[in-house]
Amino acid sequence: MASLEVFCPLGHRLQITEAQFHQTVNCPTCNTPIVVPDLGTAASVPPLPFIGSPVIAPAKPQGGRAMREWLTVKDEGGILGGIATVVLVGVIAVASISGCGEMRGGRGKRPITDAIHVSIRPSLVNSATGVLQLRNGTNRALTVLLQMHNKNSNQRTAHQVEIGPYTTEEIGVLEAGWAFEPNETVEISSTGFDSVTYKTFKTDSGTVGITKAWW
Ligand SMILES: [Zn+2]
Repeated sequence: MASLEVFCPLGHRLQITEAQFHQTVNCPTCNTPIVVPDLGTAASVPPLPFIGSPVIAPAKPQGGRAMREWLTVKDEGGILGGIATVVLVGVIAVASISGCGEMRGGRGKRPITDAIHVSIRPSLVNSATGVLQLRNGTNRALTVLLQMHNKNSNQRTAHQVEIGPYTTEEIGVLEAGWAFEPNETVEISSTGFDSVTYKTFKTDSGTVGITKAWW
């Protein structure tokens, strides 16, 4: 089990075990509560100035100095490799600001395909063309922008559609004036998500299929 040496804001040394990661422990000397991050957080988040916290507060600020607390962690389990000492300042602040939430550790956005399911069906007008189907799998309305490009005719168009919660919208010649043909790309984007590009192809039965483009 990994263990850490943690120094409280007043410089007292605490021994922390893995079971105490993400727990609040009290400094045995001065009783200051300290939130223990885990090693993964410590290793991946760059140090930032730590300004105040409802959790980490020294019992007595000394000599009127600015209250800037620095936690120092020594990796005794060897998990951090050659890095002997990691300054953990601000890790806890970062964790609480981002809420450890839906953005997967606060790094990067989710792809739009996490929220919108994309499929295509043959057009009733012309079965050699397709109607795009976008299903919003979330509980909130999403505004989705489609940027279509027909490589054969080098035509481009864009279409914006509002999709209600758990609702499917269809985009075809009736909606966007755009009948999907094989060998087209459609980039799907929405605020707060990473956009995803799809490409259309001709299926064995002569209809239009769609798949994610991997470039
Ligand atoms: Zn202490």
